[in-house]
Amino acid sequence: MPFSARRDPWGSPPWNISFTPQRHKLPAHVDFAVIGGGFTGLAAATWLRILAPDNSVAVFEAARIGAGASGRTGGMVLAETAAGNQPGLGDVLAGFRAILEKMRVRCDLELSGAWEIARQPSSGQAGHTQSPVAWNDSGILRVVNEVPGGTLDPGKLVTGLARAAQRHGAQIHENHRVQNVSWSATPELHLTTSRGAAQKISAAKILFASNALSLPQSGLADMHPRLTLAVLTRPISEKALAAIGLAERKPFYTVDFPYLWGRVRTDLSIVWGAGLVQSPDADDLERVDITAEDSAAAFDRLENRICHLHPELERIKFARRWGGPILFRDSWKPVFDWHPQSVATGFGGTSRGATGRASNVTSHDVSRNAIVLGAYAGHGVALSSYLGTWAAEVLLGRRKLPQWSALDT
Ligand SMILES: Cc1cc2nc3c(=O)[nH]c(=O)nc-3n(C[C@H](O)[C@H](O)[C@H](O)COP(=O)(O)OP(=O)(O)OC[C@H]3O[C@@H](n4cnc5c(N)ncnc54)[C@H](O)[C@@H]3O)c2cc1C
Repeated sequence: MPFSARRDPWGSPPWNISFTPQRHKLPAHVDFAVIGGGFTGLAAATWLRILAPDNSVAVFEAARIGAGASGRTGGMVLAETAAGNQPGLGDVLAGFRAILEKMRVRCDLELSGAWEIARQPSSGQAGHTQSPVAWNDSGILRVVNEVPGGTLDPGKLVTGLARAAQRHGAQIHENHRVQNVSWSATPELHLTTSRGAAQKISAAKILFASNALSLPQSGLADMHPRLTLAVLTRPISEKALAAIGLAERKPFYTVDFPYLWGRVRTDLSIVWGAGLVQSPDADDLERVDITAEDSAAAFDRLENRICHLHPELERIKFARRWGGPILFRDSWKPVFDWHPQSVATGFGGTSRGATGRASNVTSHDVSRNAIVLGAYAGHGVALSSYLGTWAAEVLLGRRKLPQWSALDT
């Protein structure tokens, strides 16, 4: 895993995660095992304990909490999914805000809107006649729409969710990687610690919140993860910020290609992102080193592109480079479904065991013992906590899975 190494091969983002979990002896059994200590897993674990305080909950994180996308994200808060609104999804931003309040998470959340920018207004979009932004980028990039959204501090969100999980009684085991699961009515998780020790624990129910990593274990083996890139420019003056059109500090993302997104931080440094790097070796992102030639070239292209957006950016200095894992599928819809190998535990269904789907059930009509949730693409900051709490409710038998997020959708 890159993150336990002295130098982080994915680079370091500019915010801090300030949390050290209490140490716990690994129990032999838990009611709920959550695999992955990012936004999804931490929110789900907290919600499970809030709704069912008599049940034991443990989060297993292969490295440190926030080591995946959550600690490295852009921090732009967006509504809906990357594929737009979905039937029954509800109001993601209102739900996210309510979750943060309930969990007492403070993360500098600002919901003053986000800009969609494009080379030309696409049909049906009025476009801002007075776009504050006019950047040179294979054409002139202008604001074409404003959508609900905003920004937050990702380090504070990871920290706040982890503290909430612990405060509500979930155990967090960092440096515990789930290697595989022996599937049965009470599945057994096989773990290794960072020191190489092998451990086992059984769990009544499991949530896979490992996102773009460990795809064979989470049942997403046919999907292709990427590392997406971000850079931080040094703080600029208010005057320069106004000159480039970002005085309102609205986060922005392109709705056409080549993709580009960004946001201004409180110290007037700017986070920018674009570009995907593939693992040279069988989708194993953990082997990607951002200093290797192809990644370094992708960063050079991104920085060069930013410098040419506007004369005011020509001499801008860059302070950091980092990458983070991202997972998306052709439909751009998140995956939120029963794990393909999970076993029916509840009403009216046929147990499917480890061999796959039974013919007389759909993925939505039985209660089983493991859920996989993730693949939000670049749209997961609010959605991960929102759907993480929803997953907790499904695992507790209080809610159904959505209809639009099945693995085979
Ligand atoms: C650079 C970047 C910028 C982004 N910008 C934005 C943005 O501006 N707005 C937005 O909405 N979204 C953005 N996203 C997407 C968003 O950050 C993610 O969708 C979200 O963080 C996913 O959270 P998660 O908890 O599901 O996954 P992760 O945060 O990836 O967490 C998964 C965790 O599982 C752990 N893990 C993996 N395998 C195992 C195992 N076998 N055992 C135990 N633990 C394991 C990992 O170490 C990791 O900590 C961005 C993503 C990246 C990478």
